Amino acid sequence: MSNSPENILHPQLELSIVVPIYNEEGNIDRLHSELTEALAATGRDYEVIAINDGSQDGSYDLLNAVQARDPRWHVIHFRRNFGQTAAIAAGFDAARGEIVVTIDADLQNDPRDIQRLLDKFAEGYDIVSGWRQDRKESLFLRRIPSALANRLISRSTGVKLHDYGCTLKAYHFDVVKGIQLYGELHRFIPALARQMGVRVAEIPVKDRARQWGSSKYGFSRTFKVVLDLIVVVFILSYFNRPLYVFGAAGFLVGGIGTLLGAYLTVFKLLTENKIGDRPLLQLAALLMVLGVQFVSTGIVADMIMRTYHESQRKPIYFVRERRRSQPEQAGSERETA
Ligand code: UDP
Ligand code: MG
Repeated sequence: MSNSPENILHPQLELSIVVPIYNEEGNIDRLHSELTEALAATGRDYEVIAINDGSQDGSYDLLNAVQARDPRWHVIHFRRNFGQTAAIAAGFDAARGEIVVTIDADLQNDPRDIQRLLDKFAEGYDIVSGWRQDRKESLFLRRIPSALANRLISRSTGVKLHDYGCTLKAYHFDVVKGIQLYGELHRFIPALARQMGVRVAEIPVKDRARQWGSSKYGFSRTFKVVLDLIVVVFILSYFNRPLYVFGAAGFLVGGIGTLLGAYLTVFKLLTENKIGDRPLLQLAALLMVLGVQFVSTGIVADMIMRTYHESQRKPIYFVRERRRSQPEQAGSERETA
């Protein structure tokens, strides 16, 4: 790896499991034993990253106890509750595995399904999403809003999934390192990752009733999801060059305004009619001003994107694979030449 560019991150083990935890004291021991069993069965070299999202119950001590007896567990304690997306983002930042799997701590997902995600992953996908079958949650408060949201998200982002809300998903290392999360955006990762050119698959997974405690969300989440969706659609469509989008609208509107103005000018010159009282003149002027507005908004948006890319060193491309001949060891380079 010595000759790799320094800014390229490399995975250091096969598998990272990311678990967001908020007041789940009754689930932690069982989570540890079920995960340990399921992960041992995969035969992979793994780590579990548990993010304690500011729990106020006994989760803190229980997680520390698990970590003390199992070195494969890393525990990150937040200072306060920052939300599931932030917890997942912290897990992604810390993850070192080539495949990163997110899973809920309440055991609604079955850790044994991880193996099935990995099998699908091996077929050459970058994201494998769980699709919960036979959902146990309430029909009206959860399943119907969720079905509608999934339709809407699939339609508007072009990445068709039946179950965006299922936390059990597997991602390639490059995907988790290349994505910036905030708000409630974790559920949109497959859509956000579209611009990286990822291959996404979906497999049915088991849904179980929550083992202990109660859900941290209510119906109000649906509204947040819809608002986040608007942001996601914006990010996806205007991302690199907002000027192209605003500029196109500006030229269209301004062009129509200019044509109308030209028509009125010719009309006046040729027929000696007055045009000062014609509504069409106002429309022409309005459209020309709007056109200029659109183009200048586009330029401003473009400059914001430029700042964003440069200040955060966001890549403008994503690599699937790099191949190059590697010298066996430093010094033996010449032998193969
Ligand atoms: N969670 C979290 N921070 C929060 C809310 C939830 O880390 O602010 C965790 C929670 O402990 C669980 C997962 O996110 O592991 C999913 O939460 P929950 O089961 O309440 O959501 P639901 O399954 O009802 O959608
Ligand atoms: Mg749950």
